[in-house]
Amino acid sequence: MEGARKALIIGGGIIGVTSAYTLARNGWAVTILDREPRVAMGASLGNGRQLSYSHTNALAGPGLIPRMPAQLLGMDDAFRISLRPSLPLFAWLVRFLCNCTHGAFRANTLACLQLAQESRAALDELLETHDIGFERRRAGKLVLLRSNRELAAAQGSAALRQAAGARLALLTPEQALEIEPALIQAGGPLVGAIHSPDDETGNCSLFADELLAKLQAHYGVDFLPREEARAITRNGGAWHVTLGSGKSLECERLVLATGHEANKLLRPLRLGLPIQSMKGYSFTAPTGPSAPVISVTDNSRRIVFTNLGGRMLVAGIADMGNASAQVDARRLETMRQAAQASLPHAADYDAMESGWAGHRPMTPNSLPIIRELAPGLMANLGHGMLGWTLAMGSAERLARMVGPPGQNSN
Ligand SMILES: Cc1cc2nc3c(=O)[nH]c(=O)nc-3n(C[C@H](O)[C@H](O)[C@H](O)COP(=O)(O)OP(=O)(O)OC[C@H]3O[C@@H](n4cnc5c(N)ncnc54)[C@H](O)[C@@H]3O)c2cc1C
Repeated sequence: MEGARKALIIGGGIIGVTSAYTLARNGWAVTILDREPRVAMGASLGNGRQLSYSHTNALAGPGLIPRMPAQLLGMDDAFRISLRPSLPLFAWLVRFLCNCTHGAFRANTLACLQLAQESRAALDELLETHDIGFERRRAGKLVLLRSNRELAAAQGSAALRQAAGARLALLTPEQALEIEPALIQAGGPLVGAIHSPDDETGNCSLFADELLAKLQAHYGVDFLPREEARAITRNGGAWHVTLGSGKSLECERLVLATGHEANKLLRPLRLGLPIQSMKGYSFTAPTGPSAPVISVTDNSRRIVFTNLGGRMLVAGIADMGNASAQVDARRLETMRQAAQASLPHAADYDAMESGWAGHRPMTPNSLPIIRELAPGLMANLGHGMLGWTLAMGSAERLARMVGPPGQNSN
C-alpha cells in the first residue's frame, strides 16, 4: 500500500503540531496539512497563553444553571448562547446540561486535571530533548473571587483538585495583595482568591512554529500549507484525503486535529462529534502603571490577564454557537470595558492594539475527544478552553492509542 507507515494530520493548530511530534517520534512518516499559510493560525494564535495546569474546572457545573436564562437572552456580557435554530447546537446543549450535575462536574474537572498533569510532564520531557524557546514563564496565577457564592463554589472545587495533587491555596484579599500588590486597584468587591503557584504562561503559536521547525529538521515531518481537506474516504485499507487543490493523499493513519471545524469532514461519514464553537476574544495593550506580574483571572467576568513584559494580554468572552471568523467590535469593546473595570491600571486601555477572535472547540463535558473513530481514523479534538494546556498530554495519549507503525488497526 502506497500510504503504509504514513500518518496524515489534518489541522496544524497546537493539537496537530504536538500530535505530529509524538507520532513522528514513534516512527511514523508524518505529514501535517492546513489551509493556512502557517501553523497555529486558528484558535492557537491569539489565546490567553496560560498553561493552567491547576485550574481545570469543567465549564458545565451546577453553578451555571441559574445563569443560563441570562446567557440565552444575551444578558450575560461574558457568556452568550446563540438562539439561532440549530439541531447540533441544541443536541450539544442538552448534553451540556446533563454535565451540570455535581457528580459530572467533579468527574470532568478531575479528568481534565489528570490530563493537564500529564501535559506538564510531557512538555518537560520534550524540552529535555529539544531546545524550544516560547517565552515560558512560571508566572503563577490568582483567580479573583468577587462574591461569597463564588467563594463557596471555588472552595469546593479547589479542595477537589488539591486532593488530586494540585498545589492551590485559598487566600483572603489581604493575602492575595501580599502576593500581587497590583491588586490594590481591583475594581469592585474582592472576597478572596485562589492561588496556584505552579501555573505557567507561554506563547502557544511561537511554540508551534518552533516545534514544527524541529520536526522538519529532525523527524522528516512534512508541512503542506494552504491545502484544505475537502473530503475523507476509506478505500482498500487506506484513508484518502481529497484536497481543494485537486490533489489526493493516501495514508495508513489519519488524524483529525481540525479544532472547532471537526464535523465538516465527519458528518458525511455519519461520524459527527459533539463539538461546538465557543468564540472568544483577546487584545494586547501596553502595560499600565500597576500591571500584575502574576497571571490573573477575574472569575465572574471570565477574563484573564497575562503579563507579556511591557504588554498586557487580555482574553475572554464565551459566545456559544457563533462560528463567524470576524472580530465583532462591540464584543471586543465589552471585553475591554470589563477588563478596565476589573483592573483599571493593569494596561493602557486607550492604546489597545487590534483585537483578535478565535474559536474554542468545546465538548459538553470540557474534555477532549481522543479516540479512534473508525479503523485508522483518529480524533484529537475538542480541547475547548484549555487546548494549549492540554496539548502535549493529548498528543501522548494519541500516540499510545495509535501505537508504532506496523501494528494493525482494528
Ligand atoms: C480567546 C481564547 C483564549 C484562550 N486562552 C487559552 C489559554 O489561556 N490557555 C489554554 O490552554 N487554552 C486557551 N484557549 C484554548 C486554545 O487556544 C484552544 O483549545 C486550542 O488552540 C485548540 O487547538 P486546535 O489545534 O484544536 O485548534 P486550532 O488552533 O483552531 O487549529 C485547527 C486548525 O485546523 C485547520 N483546519 C480546519 N479544517 C481544515 C481543513 N478542512 N483543511 C485544512 N485545515 C483545516 C485550521 O486552519 C486550523 O489551523 C483559548 C482560546 C480562545 C479562543
